[in-house]
Amino acid sequence: MFDFHVHTHYSNDCTFDMDSYIHPAIKKGLKGICFTDHVDIEYPSSSIEFELDYAKYTNEIKRLKDKYSNKLEIFTGIEFGMQPHILEADEVFFQNKSFDYILGSIHTANKKELYGGDFLLGQSEHDSILNYFNDMIFCVNHFNSYHNLGHLDAISRYVSSGSFKSAMYMEFIEEVLRIIVQKGKGIELNTSGKRYSLPHFHPEPSIIKLYKQLGGEIVTLGSDSHSPSTLGFGFDEAAATLQSCGLKYYTIYKGGKPEFIKL
Ligand SMILES: [Zn+2]
Ligand SMILES: [Zn+2]
Repeated sequence: MFDFHVHTHYSNDCTFDMDSYIHPAIKKGLKGICFTDHVDIEYPSSSIEFELDYAKYTNEIKRLKDKYSNKLEIFTGIEFGMQPHILEADEVFFQNKSFDYILGSIHTANKKELYGGDFLLGQSEHDSILNYFNDMIFCVNHFNSYHNLGHLDAISRYVSSGSFKSAMYMEFIEEVLRIIVQKGKGIELNTSGKRYSLPHFHPEPSIIKLYKQLGGEIVTLGSDSHSPSTLGFGFDEAAATLQSCGLKYYTIYKGGKPEFIKL
């Protein structure tokens, strides 16, 4: 299978170099991996900067692609943090750059970071969650650079345990999914949820089912690995989850074009 969400030391929150992923990926029987290091323009935390040296990054991936061409397929991707106010910066960033795959993710709500909990300050969890989905609706609608939307319901990790109920937000989630289907974009099934002690992957099956019902067919599989030990985490179960939601294929991207692989 193909793991389309892998971080390396090009991401500020990861210490492993690219080489260290190659042999574990081959050993686990993966056919390919896509490096998706962070680009988070105007990330609202002074302690973390998520920028990327594009030339260095793409050259290093090319070196590995050539070296391991008959053992592992390697793809050039990024995880791009979408925020409503960086729409113009997004267009500038993608000029003269090319990627196999661009995973668009929401890591903030109303200009405040999810990770440290700032997005919750001064308001109810419910209002904070609404900010998250309102940002998401704006971004999937107005941004064009992304291919798939990352970890749609990852917000459930950053509120009190068990307090996020997707049914309460389904009208917002449905709007996100309708826009994605209409634009020919896709979603990611991100298996990291179960590593964060949640009972499901991101997004939960009811959301994948809804995406399929709305006409969606494009789902990438990603472990969101920040360490080689979690490559391909839960992929057999993830494939079964997609099948149970009515999907027959999962998706990889080459040069920005989706390719469908039978489950
Ligand atoms: Zn992410
Ligand atoms: Zn990630």
